Amino acid sequence: MKILVINSGSSSLKFQLFAGADLTVSALGIIEEIGAAKSPVRLDTFDAAGGKQTFTQTDSIPDHRQAIMAMARLLRASGVLTDLHDLSGIGHRVVHGGEYFHKPVPIDKSVLAAIEKLILLAPLHNPANLTGIRVAMEHAPKTPQVAVFDTAFHQTIPEYAYLYALPHDLYRERHIRRYGFHGTSHGYVCGQAAEFLGKAASDLNIISLHLGNGASAAAVQGGKCVETSMGMTPLEGLIMGTRSGDIDPAILFYLARETKMDIQEMDDLLNKKSGLKGICDENDMRTITRRADQGDKQADLALTMFCYRLKKYIGSYMAVLGGADCIVFTGGIGENSSVVRERSCRGLKQMGIVLDAEKNKGEQQGIMEIQASNSPVKILVVPTDEEHAIATETARIVSKIPAAGNHNS
Ligand code: ADP
Repeated sequence: MKILVINSGSSSLKFQLFAGADLTVSALGIIEEIGAAKSPVRLDTFDAAGGKQTFTQTDSIPDHRQAIMAMARLLRASGVLTDLHDLSGIGHRVVHGGEYFHKPVPIDKSVLAAIEKLILLAPLHNPANLTGIRVAMEHAPKTPQVAVFDTAFHQTIPEYAYLYALPHDLYRERHIRRYGFHGTSHGYVCGQAAEFLGKAASDLNIISLHLGNGASAAAVQGGKCVETSMGMTPLEGLIMGTRSGDIDPAILFYLARETKMDIQEMDDLLNKKSGLKGICDENDMRTITRRADQGDKQADLALTMFCYRLKKYIGSYMAVLGGADCIVFTGGIGENSSVVRERSCRGLKQMGIVLDAEKNKGEQQGIMEIQASNSPVKILVVPTDEEHAIATETARIVSKIPAAGNHNS
């Protein structure tokens, strides 16, 4: 079994090759600054003995079509893949699946048409995802391709939770509602947590906290997502690296009236200039923590605000779930920042959430259990692996397609 996972962003292409029945990573690549005069390209390959080789180059890669071709050339030159046709399947990360997709699906014309329709809801992400899929299909027309959606895991959220209290026509006619994102990650870490705790996912209530540059929380009841913090777009909810998360929407009316800011400027303000960066001019949590430790008040304020917002969501999701069995921290910050975990769980003893200070500072590989012995709620740090989750879903789907099931497995 050889599965390629493709994640095409607006100016980048990330890809990972998985091989064997257990889908181990055999290559990991990234092409950045697609469209710039020079695009940096990097590929790491891994052999069965754990040996690693790195290939780097800088090429002129004007568009995603050329990027996919460069990816195929590089995989061939490195010896890990002779041809895209040798793949058992290609899994594509697609950001927005709207209400069409509740789970990963094999890609056909109707799936392409639906992803295209959803550009309206995800103008930054879906076009790049779609180009990646189209070009991969042109280059490997016989290889089954699968779309895995960031939104799919959240499609179980009930109507009363996904609707905004706006005139209902806006939902009926314009599909304005909460969709949620990071679904592949939330689903993956909840599955990992259940396995670690030796329980069925259906027997657990979990609060999943994906904290990276983008950050979101999800309340997962018996394996089904019932609430999440990101909304119609990834802007709502927690404070993020450069995104504001929740604000009073009337701030925008005020800015439009008083400063004549236009829509693009508002978009940039809330998506690119706010969040941690807006408060302390820095969006990297490592630097913020270091600065806060050295007495920088603005960095400490940003950190405090980030953790306070997170704590509010933990508290509200305890209410949504009627109590949780487990809280899961994941993403670059969730997995690595003991300070964020400590500050966001501080003072929640009444809710049964008590961290063990020493365990929280541990640096163990894999899943870490960090609650105190008197904490009824388990607290886990679970490394996320969205690409592996996409590869697993792709492998599961292609193995059900008769012609593909026997193909190069
Ligand atoms: P993305 O959302 O882009 O995938 P990541 O999940 O990689 O991002 O998370 C990036 C964030 O994780 C950055 O804010 C980075 O500073 C933070 N991070 C990574 N390592 C650490 C660490 N050791 N301590 C604190 N924060 C960390």
